[in-house]
Amino acid sequence: MEQSQSVDVSDEFLVVEGEQTHSNNAALTDLPTPLIFSATTRQHTDLFKNYSGDIGLIMTVNGHKISTKASTQVLSLASPVWSQVIQNYAAGKFNFMKNNQELSNHEVGARGGTSQHLDFTEDNTEALTVLLNIAHLDFGKVPRKELCFSKLLNLAKLVAKYKCLSLVEPFYKNWLEGEDFEPFQDGHENWLFIAYVFGRHAAFAKLTKKIAKEVRVNKDGSLIDSLGQLFKDPMPHGILESIQEVRETTIKNTLDIWYHYVDSLIDSQTISCKLGKADCDELAFGKIVMALKQLNLWPAKTEIDLSVNDLADKLKGFSFGALGKGHEGCHEVSEIQRLTVEVAQGIPSPILYSHYSAMTSACMTLNCGAKDQEYDNCEDLDF
Ligand SMILES: [Zn+2]
Repeated sequence: MEQSQSVDVSDEFLVVEGEQTHSNNAALTDLPTPLIFSATTRQHTDLFKNYSGDIGLIMTVNGHKISTKASTQVLSLASPVWSQVIQNYAAGKFNFMKNNQELSNHEVGARGGTSQHLDFTEDNTEALTVLLNIAHLDFGKVPRKELCFSKLLNLAKLVAKYKCLSLVEPFYKNWLEGEDFEPFQDGHENWLFIAYVFGRHAAFAKLTKKIAKEVRVNKDGSLIDSLGQLFKDPMPHGILESIQEVRETTIKNTLDIWYHYVDSLIDSQTISCKLGKADCDELAFGKIVMALKQLNLWPAKTEIDLSVNDLADKLKGFSFGALGKGHEGCHEVSEIQRLTVEVAQGIPSPILYSHYSAMTSACMTLNCGAKDQEYDNCEDLDF
């Protein structure tokens, strides 16, 4: 279908001027709230089409506030959030919108019977235009290939914010083609949010475990990622708390293996030495305690700042040395080290039922195949 034949390209973009005349572009980004303006025409890059719509939109392009038009009917069908905003406009419930947290950035900018505008200036414009182009059937401007991490995250934010997942159903699989690799790059921890929004169970399950094995805590007790950075929003609700809990439990289980073994060596009721020599146990006790002390894990600790992976690496790495002729098999420290690695590798899944449920719902909306819903570690899910 030929689209928008009546649209004059020179009118595609409107740069919004404030009520007072601004002498420079910087002033345009500093409009008063609520926005009160008249719109003047200015040519701009071909980022977003000026639909022959009945409501104006304001978004930020290269630092400028740009006005264009959209169809209220299309917006209402595309997103229940937009639908609510438009209904409120129609009902004149401007005060309600101003007091509503979710809708607070959609204040109307109308005065004296001039056009009304939705304010999208806080949204990522590139992601927003993808959604608007899909909604208005301008598929030629919709990306069809894999999207990089930052673009995917921006889209996931808006899809979640405007509850318009079904809108991207024909496109999302291409966008997510890197899901076997991209989520696991350092600094891509927010891929958790992408996987959560688009119902990618397997990527979510693998990434939560990877993060749980890699996270450390800083001096303030806050979780930090593999690069030593604090986690940033957006993250699925409750996932960081769950990751922290799983990390603490796994570290405790790891350390308990060693502390229990050390305790057994000083238990006067039993002798572990195969030859029944108490001094063999005492020597083993001394060697292990020395090693733990060098790793700053003795006296016995319950909280450490290491990651699960780092702790396992340190414990499996130290050399126990010989106990003396005839005592080679008395204390199988290598077996304790093997158990240590096993505990780290078998870290429980931090996924909560709320995450599983939300992703399953997303899968249904997107008509994911059964394979897309598979977990690699289904047996780990404890709900
Ligand atoms: Zn012995």
